[in-house]
Amino acid sequence: MASIANYEMVIGLEVHVELKTATKLFCNCPTTFGAEPNTQCCPVCLGMPGTLPVLNEQAVNYAIMAGLATNCQITHFSIEDRKNYFYPDLPKAYQISQLDLPLCHDGYIDIETEKGDAKRIGINRIHIEEDAGKLIHEDSKGTFIDCNRGGVPLIEIVSEPDIRSAEEANAYLQKLRAIILYTGVSDCKMNEGSMRCDVNLSVRKKGETSLGTRTEMKNLNSFQFIMKAIEYEFKRQVESVEAGEAIVQETRRFDQQSGKTFSMRTKGDADDYRYFPDPDLAPIRISEERLRDLSSKIPVLPDQRKQEYVKQYEMTPYAAEQITMQKEISDYFEAVVENTNYPVLAANLIQTEVMRLLTQDEVDIPISAANFAGLVQMTGDGKINSSTSKKVLNMLWEKDQNPVELVRKEGLEQINDKDELIEIARQVVTEQPKLTADYRKGKTAVLQALVGQVMKKTSGRANPVIIKEAMVEILEETEEQA
Ligand SMILES: [Zn+2]
Repeated sequence: MASIANYEMVIGLEVHVELKTATKLFCNCPTTFGAEPNTQCCPVCLGMPGTLPVLNEQAVNYAIMAGLATNCQITHFSIEDRKNYFYPDLPKAYQISQLDLPLCHDGYIDIETEKGDAKRIGINRIHIEEDAGKLIHEDSKGTFIDCNRGGVPLIEIVSEPDIRSAEEANAYLQKLRAIILYTGVSDCKMNEGSMRCDVNLSVRKKGETSLGTRTEMKNLNSFQFIMKAIEYEFKRQVESVEAGEAIVQETRRFDQQSGKTFSMRTKGDADDYRYFPDPDLAPIRISEERLRDLSSKIPVLPDQRKQEYVKQYEMTPYAAEQITMQKEISDYFEAVVENTNYPVLAANLIQTEVMRLLTQDEVDIPISAANFAGLVQMTGDGKINSSTSKKVLNMLWEKDQNPVELVRKEGLEQINDKDELIEIARQVVTEQPKLTADYRKGKTAVLQALVGQVMKKTSGRANPVIIKEAMVEILEETEEQA
């Protein structure tokens, strides 16, 4: 029996992103999140008979900017279509979307996984559409409808089926989110639903080129769940194929509690939505001038910054990718490196300690760039060791202040004086006859424990490189004497 290693997964992602316009796609209702249910609706977005939609030009501009930032071709002539279906959160019984002539098509983004694999993922299309309302299920009372979200502008970004692992899916989504955030067209908050992801997944034996039957997992709203859902669904499909069962084309629901996917509804080759061009809306024509104007609004994007960092600061591509993912963090890093000679050290501290201290989606670092640079400089110059550096960073996080003065006040300077360290090391050797004997018997791994004792005696301030040298010297001379 063939194992799971003989199979590969083929994944395409459909990502919905809410655009950050002040008003909805076809009316003047506000789009703010979290308002009282049904307070941000009007006859147009409620689909009352006799009303007419008016296209929000800013939403079109934002969609085009997202397309430009993801290397898409922008169409000069685009139309909007009605996608007809009935569901309680859609009072019009059709959604205005785009079928044959999307605004943007044939783009790509480049990703870098943690293992250092670089890859280009194709973007099939980006189209504009309106969001539906929301159903609120309350166990005892029933289900309620909130139409505030109905009519909020969305773009749907459809990838090519180029993704082959959960890690690649994660890297793609993170990168896509970073690019959209840089352009400022959406806040991409997964926890508020302004970025949602559908995963299309099929399996095939490695080396095959045809596509298997795929399932779709809808509305996943955290990177972690997306990866879990992919891993589970891959395994489930491989087991089915191995057992000789056919994969059913269907929509599946991912259950966060159990980590499993469940069948929701099967579907035929294509849903029949009876698409047709919306007769109430004129075609969208995009002039060269408008495209030029929008191109000029695209800022320096994460990939450009990443390449600069790799070249200028000799960072690894993965480290540079991590730092540039959030524009605010990247801006902060650039402000820090202006005031220190140790950019790589600054990047390391940001990637480890700062990222750990920032909670999810938070980007405000409560330490001024000048003070952070001062800390990095002292660390690079050997005035404090790396563990003190982390300690001081945590202190600055609590209360931003001059790190040089703080280190002096708290007596945290690194002890670099070799004579002083030799003396302490000798004390440790005398006090630890067992460890010393072990070392002499060849268990050199105990060196770390002996160094740790010196660290303890100096409240963690000793220069670890010098102690290690001093300790080895003392142990070897003791050995000769013995
Ligand atoms: Zn409205």
